[in-house]
Amino acid sequence: MTIGVALFGATGSIGESTLSVIEAYPERFHLEVVSAHRSVDKLVGIIERFRPKHVILSDQSEATAMIEKMPCSFNGSLAFGESALTEAASASEVDVVMAAIVGGAGLVSTYAAVTAGKRVCVANKEALVMGGELMISEAETRGAMLLPIDSEHNAIFQCLPDSYVVGQPISGLRRLVLTCSGGPFREWSIDAMAAATPNQAVAHPNWSMGQKISVDSATLMNKGLELIEATHLFSVPESAIDVVIHPESAVHSLVEFVDGSMLAQLGSPDMRIPIAHALGFPERLDINVERLDLTKLSKLQFEPVNYKAFPALAIARQVSVEGGDRPIILNAANEIAVEAFLNKRIGFKEITELVSDCLNRIARQPISSIDDVLSIDSMGRQIADTWIMERA
Ligand code: NAD
Ligand code: MG
Repeated sequence: MTIGVALFGATGSIGESTLSVIEAYPERFHLEVVSAHRSVDKLVGIIERFRPKHVILSDQSEATAMIEKMPCSFNGSLAFGESALTEAASASEVDVVMAAIVGGAGLVSTYAAVTAGKRVCVANKEALVMGGELMISEAETRGAMLLPIDSEHNAIFQCLPDSYVVGQPISGLRRLVLTCSGGPFREWSIDAMAAATPNQAVAHPNWSMGQKISVDSATLMNKGLELIEATHLFSVPESAIDVVIHPESAVHSLVEFVDGSMLAQLGSPDMRIPIAHALGFPERLDINVERLDLTKLSKLQFEPVNYKAFPALAIARQVSVEGGDRPIILNAANEIAVEAFLNKRIGFKEITELVSDCLNRIARQPISSIDDVLSIDSMGRQIADTWIMERA
């Protein structure tokens, strides 16, 4: 019996890397479920290549196109809408869920996989930023195994003993060190950055990724989201997480223990490495990736972050300390801001301004359920939309 994988967000960058790992191990994995939002042609290509049993298109408006283009050889099920994702997350044939949808849109399906007690490989960092506390306590109650895919968090996880359970405190920990490439604007002046275009912002020096995370990497909001993600995954306060700029993207993060030891994970900047680690865990899968040649790395640089040039990370630190509804608003406002920037409705600098203003405009709300998270998320998006309209 092979392991049944549900791949949510199959047509994205993480989706493609996951497919490549699954393809290398047909005797170990099969694709039980695949989902995409509206990239019908790409999804059809995946269906022809992998013959999954269940296919989900979450955007109903593309249903007709999908039905028309479905390969004749396909004899599985085809479903539409977000409810199909939550249903698939708990199917008994699904052993592992790869949560690779981008943004808050992935929250409900990721949470459903946790509630179903699955092995959940979490790439969808926004879900953890929004509902981290609920997600971790639900995983504990339901016996779900969370495995980090984000390269930094996967690196940290790899530095811990195999018996470590995600969400629990790390024994003997002094601090976590998240590395950050610095993004495409690391050496730009504040003025030059203010005039940056979407094409310049998505041109990441080391990683090839989806558009949203690429813009987040340019503002350093990605590192802010990752800092909040780390507080949940590793049960540490914001004050125990350092961020250092490491332009080579060879050291993916570090763990410092109380005795002065520091452990790190290194590798090529290729998401197939953390994906293979999480899918195979605790075993190691032999995959065809570029090996890191230490003799070709002339030096490894580590520099402090320039918080003045990249205020997003300072805002995220503050939000992490305040907790509660703040990370939900930060994330919602950032998603709206990034989309508006990509559509050339606001400038690069305004992304962070919008996030900061939205946090100031919304009074604190209590949260005790995923429904609360969703309603604060939609309020954050509304306020962010209003902000953009006021500027226009
Ligand atoms: P992407 O934009 O390349 O792909 C996103 C996927 O989500 C696509 O399959 C798309 O169809 C689906 N999707 C988009 N909107 C949706 C919606 N409303 N409902 C349902 N599905 C929807 O994104 P990506 O770069 O692969 O990133 C995916 C997630 O992984 C993000 O949370 C990102 O932060 C995280 N991540 C990505 C990388 C990377 O290298 N790409 C690294 C670390 C973490
Ligand atoms: Mg990362």
